[in-house]
Amino acid sequence: MTTSTPQKCAKEGCSCMAQPGSKYCSTQCEDSKKFMTLKCLCGHPECAG
Ligand SMILES: [Zn+2]
Ligand SMILES: [Zn+2]
Repeated sequence: MTTSTPQKCAKEGCSCMAQPGSKYCSTQCEDSKKFMTLKCLCGHPECAG
């Protein structure tokens, strides 16, 4: 199965593209799911939630 299509970050409120092999664009997003925050902390300029 070839999934080369860029996927959006699985975090709600994040509009970044996820990293290859990950559901999230960054570890910040992956961690933030624990904190139930809607604000994205990935730090990407495109994603200033
Ligand atoms: Zn983001
Ligand atoms: Zn993200």
